[in-house]
Amino acid sequence: MNFYVKFMSSRRKLSMKECNEEINLQKCNCTWDPCSRKGICCECLRYHWNMRELPACLFPDEVERTFDRSLRRFIEIYKNKV
Ligand code: SF4
Repeated sequence: MNFYVKFMSSRRKLSMKECNEEINLQKCNCTWDPCSRKGICCECLRYHWNMRELPACLFPDEVERTFDRSLRRFIEIYKNKV
């Protein structure tokens, strides 16, 4: 099998990998119940990053509940913890 065929078949396996939505949901701390992206982490990250925000799971629960998912808030929380 040549390199190109190997490369393409490995990419196909990756693209067919299923989302672990059920497992993700068990670990999701987001309290915004109506969200359709819950458990679909790639969509969640893309959605928030487009607004220069971060997903709920990167914030402590008490901050998550404020729905302030801004980078500013994230940096404020972690600036002295790295
Ligand atoms: S963090 Fe945002 S996108 Fe992700 S599940 Fe919660 S409300 Fe939806």
